[in-house]
Amino acid sequence: MVAHVLAILLAIIPVVETGIGNGALERFEFRETHMGSEFKLVVYCNDEGVASQAARAAFDRIAFLDQKLSDYRVDSELMRLCDQAGGEPVVVSPDLFEVLRRSKELSERTAGAFDVTINPVVKLWRRARRDHQLPSREQLEAAIGRVGWERMSLDAEARTVQLADKGMRLDVGGIAKGYASDAALAVLREQGISRALVAGAGDIVVGDPPPDQEGWLIGIAPLDSARQPERFLRLKNQAVSTSGDAERYVEIDGIRYSHIVDPRSGLGLTGRSSVTVVAPNGTSSDSLATAISVLGPERGLELAEKTEGVEAMIVLAPTVEDEWSILRTNGFDALESLGPGNEEMSAPRLGGPES
Ligand code: AMP
Ligand code: MG
Repeated sequence: MVAHVLAILLAIIPVVETGIGNGALERFEFRETHMGSEFKLVVYCNDEGVASQAARAAFDRIAFLDQKLSDYRVDSELMRLCDQAGGEPVVVSPDLFEVLRRSKELSERTAGAFDVTINPVVKLWRRARRDHQLPSREQLEAAIGRVGWERMSLDAEARTVQLADKGMRLDVGGIAKGYASDAALAVLREQGISRALVAGAGDIVVGDPPPDQEGWLIGIAPLDSARQPERFLRLKNQAVSTSGDAERYVEIDGIRYSHIVDPRSGLGLTGRSSVTVVAPNGTSSDSLATAISVLGPERGLELAEKTEGVEAMIVLAPTVEDEWSILRTNGFDALESLGPGNEEMSAPRLGGPES
């Protein structure tokens, strides 16, 4: 048991098969850094020029979204919206509206466990990681007071967003990479490429399968990154995301605090877990993986079970006397696949930029 459990899993790895067997289609791979993470595209196409041009358009779309959604750029559309908190409704772009609409929908379904108004608290934890010092109770209380998804009003017809109180700030770090990956896959499809994979760190979105394959083979990486993955998923026209504290956390006085925070307490999650979610698209898998991390295994699996097209696996680190445990939704096993033969593999990094 222990050896098996040590093999667990904090990132996901696309294992990409070559296009042998279909003469016309060749495999092309492209990488660029956006949103503080490496994005990788894998496409099957019979023309290198078409593949490169499609990849360029897909990366441009991701870069465009990064400019709109970043909370690191003071001039992003998201930050300019925050600057108007406490004021009138603001007309926003269709992309920003869609990300906030999907976010708020998930806030409602999770009673606020997922909350994009979390930015004031997340900022405190970024500082804690940098200074290696916990936020004070006063700082946490003040930040929590500025958080509340119910005070973010959306009007779909006018495409406006209104943040009720001055001091409210948004952070779409738990959903934006999934949305950007969906958008990039859509661009590839528009360019005539349907057999494609987009991977942005821990978020992977796939279209039609590689030639002669049932689906894309995605490895779930072991906790020990030197080891090969032992579990694999076979996916098509789906997405998979993993959330966990593999890279971004701070350990103070022997307690490890994740970059994912519980909006109720304002504290970084301390029960170490890795949550892998398969969903029909990356916007859902990304945001659900973050949400289920906050909800914990019981409520998290319940949410996954009742969400159409969603399966989840949760790996929980031992508390003092327990062993590692792995929990899955009923349908997760059916997505699992035998490992690869001799296909090549690559591992996207989990996590994003430090500040
Ligand atoms: P992910 O890596 O997709 O799980 O996203 C983690 C990021 O989501 C963090 O770095 C924060 O930017 C943001 N975040 C942290 N806690 C929450 C939360 N409770 N709800 C929504 N977003 C969060
Ligand atoms: Mg996420």
